[in-house]
Amino acid sequence: MHVDSRGESVSGLRAFIESSPTPYHAALSISERLEGDGFLRLAEADAFSLTPAGKYFVRRGGAVVAFRIGEQPASSIGFRVAAAHTDSPTLKLKVGAERRRHGVVSVPVEVYGGAIVSSWIDRDLGVAGVLATRENGGSGIRFYRSSRPVAVIPNLAIHLNRSVNEGFEYNKQDHLPAILQMDDVDSPEQSGNSRLDPGTRISESILVRYAASQLGIDPGAVVDADLYLWDMQPPALVGVDESLICSGRLDNLAACYSAVEAIQSAQSSRTSAVAAFFNNEEIGSRTREGADSGMLRTILERIVLALGGDREEFHRALASSFLISNDAAHAVHPNFADKHDPAYSPRLNRGPVIKYNGNFRYTTTAQTAAYFEDLCRRCDVPVQRFVNRSDMASGSTIGPAASALSEVPAVDVGIPILGMHSIRETAGVNDPAVMTRVLAQYFAESAIF
Ligand code: ZN
Repeated sequence: MHVDSRGESVSGLRAFIESSPTPYHAALSISERLEGDGFLRLAEADAFSLTPAGKYFVRRGGAVVAFRIGEQPASSIGFRVAAAHTDSPTLKLKVGAERRRHGVVSVPVEVYGGAIVSSWIDRDLGVAGVLATRENGGSGIRFYRSSRPVAVIPNLAIHLNRSVNEGFEYNKQDHLPAILQMDDVDSPEQSGNSRLDPGTRISESILVRYAASQLGIDPGAVVDADLYLWDMQPPALVGVDESLICSGRLDNLAACYSAVEAIQSAQSSRTSAVAAFFNNEEIGSRTREGADSGMLRTILERIVLALGGDREEFHRALASSFLISNDAAHAVHPNFADKHDPAYSPRLNRGPVIKYNGNFRYTTTAQTAAYFEDLCRRCDVPVQRFVNRSDMASGSTIGPAASALSEVPAVDVGIPILGMHSIRETAGVNDPAVMTRVLAQYFAESAIF
């Protein structure tokens, strides 16, 4: 493929990642794309009013479930579900706990998910998230993202930490507070950690005041805030041949992007297509926006009922449905190849990876893998396989919870990447578009599993 067309093939993905610094923004980006394509947003508190061949979505915080009603009733032909997750490992800010220390104002953080902590050091960090507001007598939510870097977690000089290259553990409480600004007050407690003002209200937090000023709202209207750090370095094509894409949050925004592209491209088909974008996978999915919740099953049931079906038809629909859980896979790292079982060493730009685990940390069975492999063959895409080394614990993903709760058979797959859970991950430039093609085929055809 020509270099320019490679860049073109991921330009949409790059824009999507840049517009999605947090799961809330990812859900918003997905919603805006869907609305622009004629999908109607449904409010969960209202009765669902659906029409055959209609396109709809539900947004719940950082999660979205989008669906396109097929020509055949789901009770006879089931749903085709593709799932991904909107969240990535990050650092959550302890808003209101900003403190003066040694001439700077810094904010402590909590580590969200399995982040490679050292990758967050010495980065130009933005702040993004949601503010809970009370304005004009009503409560609401404001999305916020800084337009420029506003935080940094500097390393300690090697002269003061001579053994850093022999391995160093960053203490999450002591070493990760992010610097926000210089301190213009001469603090007498030069050796201590003094909070800006004990008892500070959230609306007096430096972060909240800054965010409110950017949003043009009164900081006094901000009641609370969920704010996170994110790497402001944009995605880039890398390599002499531009065969790599390096970016934050490829796990799992690349899969979200493939799913939203695929459901947008799916023309009316016999089968109902569902794209589920769950939040909170990185901390175990056990929230009401996560895969380990009733969200997917509830929406599938409401689709059947709203189209005039009954509970029996809902259960029949589940029995003939299929779920593709699409989350990043481990490509073999050339510098650490012994971390892979040599028989299962996926490579970048060689197509989707089917993920297996004997203890079902991945939900794949021989039968569901065979379905996915046949699907890929029908769109002329090669597949790779991944099983962990037998002496290493496996990661997991949304597949097991989503499949167990919905009782829908599932396969765990993903594009291969390097550096999973680093602030900046590396993928093959061709793989995201290939996965999109497979999902579009999945939604378009009506092969019964
Ligand atoms: Zn993931």
